[in-house]
Amino acid sequence: MTEERSSTAWEVVIGLEVHVQLACRSKLFSGASTAFGAPPNSQVCAIDMGLPGTLPSVNREAVDMAIRFGLAANARINRTCVFERKNYFYPDLPKGYQTTQLRQPIVGAGFMDVQLDDGSDFRVRIHHAHLEEDAGKSLHDFQVDSTAIDLNRAGMPLLEIVTEPDLRSACQAVAFARQLHALVAGLGICDGHMEQGSLRFDVNVSVRPGGSSSLGTRTETKNLNSFRFMEQAIEQEVRRQINLLERGAAVRQETRLYNGETGQAAALRTKEEAGDYRYFPCPDLLPVRVEQGHIDHLRASLPERPEMRQARLMDKWGLPAAEAALLAEQAATASYFEATAMACDDARLAAQWITGTLARNLKRDKISLQDSPVSAEALGGLLQRVKDNTLSAPLARQVFDALWQGEGSCADDVIASQGLRQVTDESCLERLVEQVLTEHPEQVKNYKAADSARQKKMIGFFVGQAMKTSKGTANPEQLNRWLHKKLS
Ligand code: ADP
Ligand code: MG
Repeated sequence: MTEERSSTAWEVVIGLEVHVQLACRSKLFSGASTAFGAPPNSQVCAIDMGLPGTLPSVNREAVDMAIRFGLAANARINRTCVFERKNYFYPDLPKGYQTTQLRQPIVGAGFMDVQLDDGSDFRVRIHHAHLEEDAGKSLHDFQVDSTAIDLNRAGMPLLEIVTEPDLRSACQAVAFARQLHALVAGLGICDGHMEQGSLRFDVNVSVRPGGSSSLGTRTETKNLNSFRFMEQAIEQEVRRQINLLERGAAVRQETRLYNGETGQAAALRTKEEAGDYRYFPCPDLLPVRVEQGHIDHLRASLPERPEMRQARLMDKWGLPAAEAALLAEQAATASYFEATAMACDDARLAAQWITGTLARNLKRDKISLQDSPVSAEALGGLLQRVKDNTLSAPLARQVFDALWQGEGSCADDVIASQGLRQVTDESCLERLVEQVLTEHPEQVKNYKAADSARQKKMIGFFVGQAMKTSKGTANPEQLNRWLHKKLS
């Protein structure tokens, strides 16, 4: 079968299970701290270890966070939810069971509409979301010949969000994952630190012949904590399954692991069934009841949603969908944008600079927008000087860098103290070009002897020299015009 046939004949089906670590101060059933990075086993109490005689109690902050997610995901909130024990044995699970929710989770069915860069969107149904505790961690490289256990993570509050199998490509899955990341961060229920495992994705993947309405056999690849790894793992798994099916072999329902560092995937175990875990309601915890009034109160306090922010930015400021989506992902970015756009009275220019130069600098120096050394007002002031032609694009970047380094509190200061004002005076530019050409007679001779294609390449040399001489202040378009005039 040809490549082309295989890429059109199979439909990809994906459902996600997402573990969101809730940004609570204490654990789901105990008062132990949830802070990241503490020395091993320094944040474990008797309840987390399940010592005899201890009694867990439910952290209401975690319940509220789950409800906030449910409301934001258009979901039904179950006013009574029940914790159950999921029994299994593993060294990092000191109690011998995980306290989780199965039959009556806090959040019922809902949906999220996911925006793509081209402005289109698609709907992903949420099957449910439940609260559960995390397990501890096995450390295999802590000691030479034995495995060590760190229980700091045991009992950490997690919200597991389960989607219906509504995603149809790796690209859709990543778009959904990014939007979910932005949503939980924006709600303030998760710190969003993927590299610390605050958001972990299990991807269930199957393929089926195009047009078929029944589902194919799926595999589940566990614990992906980066969007890139997620995309790679899905694409690789789709290829593997299609290969198997086209050879006449069958896909085995199994749990798999993907190693992002090596790009290798491997089967971990065959799929277990709910029955294997002997679930039963936890006798130590009463069902949790939530008043309707409390739900209404939480609903009233929800922040504006990213997709609503995006719509507002498109509507009010005339931004294209992709740019608006980038700026709307976080409330702080959107307000920064609006303040900048207001200060310079040019939304497109502000959007360009924030998603471009500013975003790159923040990423490079690993700082968040809140800590940006260049405020929205300062950037707005700089962009005013771009608009009124005081600064060319390269000069504006120089001024921005100076502001970033703290060399002046506003663009006008930097322009004055470093003499960065753009030179637009025609006679100055004419003199500059004449000087450069006199200093490089050899290059001028070569230029005049060359054909027009080569001349196009050679002109850059003169532009560079003129920019160097003028310390970047020459207006680029005018400079070009003068060079062409004097060289012809
Ligand atoms: P389990 O609880 O055994 O893991 P579920 O039926 O609850 O199984 O499904 C778990 C996840 O797998 C859900 O996100 C669901 O959408 C997804 N899923 C189920 N069947 C398929 C399939 N055939 N292909 C892709 N995803 C699937
Ligand atoms: Mg599962």
